[in-house]
Amino acid sequence: MKPPSIKRFCQHCGEKFYARRKTAEYCSPNCRWKAWRERHPVDEPKGNRVVKQWYTKNQTVNLRECPVCKHSFFATNNQATKKYCSRACCQKAYRQRFEAKRRADVARRVIRHLEAMGCELYFGDTAAR
Ligand SMILES: [Zn+2]
Ligand SMILES: [Zn+2]
Repeated sequence: MKPPSIKRFCQHCGEKFYARRKTAEYCSPNCRWKAWRERHPVDEPKGNRVVKQWYTKNQTVNLRECPVCKHSFFATNNQATKKYCSRACCQKAYRQRFEAKRRADVARRVIRHLEAMGCELYFGDTAAR
């Protein structure tokens, strides 16, 4: 195989690189991946987000995104419920959910208390109750 000799500019980072094919767009798999990610932006972190999927002979392999640390990890289809890349992230997510719930509970209790004392509560433009 002759060495890559066609001068191209990477569609992602703009670096000059040499390719074998005239249609080559990216200097590296990394840039190709980053460009793909930019075209598919992540808005809300959702658990079990499948970023990419492909098939092997026996199983489907999903490249998922961990909603906690945003790293990608692999999960096969038998791990359909696998949401996080690691135990640490799983625990972190659990703690975050727990914290959010606790704070909401406290806020609700305070509001109820103030209402019981006859306070009119206003939350900006929208009354959040
Ligand atoms: Zn590049
Ligand atoms: Zn993670």
